Amino acid sequence: MQGRPPRAFIRAFEKVLPGDGRRWLRGLLLLEAGAVALREFDTAHVVAEVMSESEPGLIYDVTGSRAGGWECNCMDHQTRGGREQCKHIRAVKMVYLAVAGKGVKTDG
Ligand SMILES: [Zn+2]
Repeated sequence: MQGRPPRAFIRAFEKVLPGDGRRWLRGLLLLEAGAVALREFDTAHVVAEVMSESEPGLIYDVTGSRAGGWECNCMDHQTRGGREQCKHIRAVKMVYLAVAGKGVKTDG
């Protein structure tokens, strides 16, 4: 993406999804780029692989569940101690919220 996104756009994200809107946007861009592969996905939990943007060939493991608790093995998430979820988690979480949030099962 060229340049910075308009502030109004970032604020719109933050109204719908709590937390830093820039991270949600970066997660959305990962989805759009096809960087996210869902390995396990149902209404209770999700396991996914997210390709690194900065290091080709590097893949991060993201897990999450309805009960809470999202993990990613990237440096951003590890160093922040889970206080602010990384863009990889947010990319996967957006899919999870969109589908599991409506109670839709995707496993057949
Ligand atoms: Zn991450």
